[in-house]
Parts: sequence; C-alpha cells; structure tokens
Amino acid sequence: MAGKVWFVGAGPGDPELITVKGMHLLQQAGAVLYAGSLVDHAVTLYAPDGCEIRDSKDMTLEEITGWLIEQARCHETVVRLQTGDPGLYGALVEMVRPLDVANITWAVIPGVSSAMASAAAAGETLTLPEVTQTVILTRVAGRTPMPDGEELEALAAHHTTLCIFLSITLLSEVQRALRAAGWSEDAPVLVVQKASWPSEEKIVRGTLRDIRDKCRSEKITSQAMIIASPALGARQWPEIQHSKLYDAAFSHRFRKAR
Ligand code: SAH
Repeated sequence: MAGKVWFVGAGPGDPELITVKGMHLLQQAGAVLYAGSLVDHAVTLYAPDGCEIRDSKDMTLEEITGWLIEQARCHETVVRLQTGDPGLYGALVEMVRPLDVANITWAVIPGVSSAMASAAAAGETLTLPEVTQTVILTRVAGRTPMPDGEELEALAAHHTTLCIFLSITLLSEVQRALRAAGWSEDAPVLVVQKASWPSEEKIVRGTLRDIRDKCRSEKITSQAMIIASPALGARQWPEIQHSKLYDAAFSHRFRKAR
C-alpha cells in the first residue's frame, strides 16, 4: 500500500476553523499525528473510530518522519495535523525531505494562521488604506537566531503591521526593538492569547509603554500573538481613508463610477 501524507493546517484552535478539505481528510484518515495539545480538539471531533492517533509532542524529527512513513505503508490517508498554517514556523521542509527519499507522496492543506485569527478576535484589520498596506510575519530571536537583516528593529523601521510569533516571553526585546526603530511610547500594541479557543481566548490591548505590564498582570506567557500596527484601533478614529473598491466615484471591472 502506498498511502499519501497530508500536512493539514488545523487553524488556530477552534475546531471549526479547519478547512472543509482538512476536515474531510481527517474523517478519512487511517492515521493522524497531531502537534501537541494545540490541535487535539479537531482530531477528537473528526477522526474516525479505529484511526491510529498519536501526539508528536515528545517525538524527535526522525521519529516523526519514521512514523509517517510507516503509517503511509499501511493506510491510504495519513494526516500530519499542525497549528495554524503548516508553512509558518511549522518545520515543514525538514519533515517532507525524508518522505521524498522514501518515495512517499505528500501534499499541504493550508490553514488559518493565528496571525489572522488574532486580528479577527480583536476586530482589527491588518491593512488600512494610506496607513499601512504591508504585513510582516516575524519573530524575535530565541534559540533560533534571526538571519542577517531580519532583526525586529530593522523590520520595524518600515512602520507597517508586524505580527510577531513565538515571542511573548521576549516582550522586553520587542519593546526595545520598536523603540529603537522610532515607534512612540503610545503606539498601540495588541496581544491575543489562544485566539479562537472557545472560552480561553484573552485579548490584551495596550501601548508600547505598558503592554508588557498588562500581559504580566494577565499572566500571559505562552500561545500568544503580538500585533503592533499603525492600523490598530482605527474603528475609533474620527476619520479614516476609505478603500477605493467601494468608493462611488471609482470605476472598476464590475462597477461604473457614479
Ligand atoms: N503555524 C502556526 C504558528 C506556529 S508557531 C500559525 O500559522 O499560526 C507557534 C506560535 O504561533 C505561538 O508562539 C504563538 O505566537 C502563535 N500562536 C499559535 N496559535 C495561537 C493562537 N491560537 N493564538 C495566538 N497565538 C497563537
């Protein structure tokens, strides 16, 4: 039997935020390897009785790829379920290379990233006309160093939207980098913990000055997204530039200007 391994984005936590395709694959799966407690809910809900289910939290890369290869030799559909989107901080390439060597076919099903889910939870937009039209998805250096030129201070110099993953325990470094890049002490910063998790989501709104203290008093030390953006809070501004798409004076392919 030559089965196929599907790297499925589970989304940010709410099991209803997996894609329909990802859910169908789970429903057909003979084996599922999921990434820690972040995505176990979707597995429990959708995987069929008799499905081989394993948590990868205590496995090494070799054990993970070995398990996937072994399962693909006895099941048609094998799912590797990952948080958010598998292409973001998901160790995808190191997992698929051994599959290629073993001649196992594989494919990726995208997922709703926690960056998008965090903005949605707070009712914020990541882009706003004439304010910011660019989103940078990044992190600060932890045990994984940042490549040259990608230090947060350098990226923050663009004054665009920053979605900062894997960095909630390094908030003081985030503050330092934004200050060094000229962000004001009053610049809005948003932290969302467990975005989309039913009854566990926490939203903390602050400024560059106080966001760390606020997160500390809310005891937020893991599973959190930091968003710094000049567009935060725009729904309360006295005036904003509207998108041209819905502007009555603007013609496009589907509508003539009035
Ligand atoms: N592939 C994932 C990211 C994995 S890295 C994605 O696309 O979302 C893990 C980091 O993602 C965490 O440190 C945190 O910064 C963020 N994260 C994952 N799930 C989250 C959630 N539900 N709410 C807020 N941040 C989350």
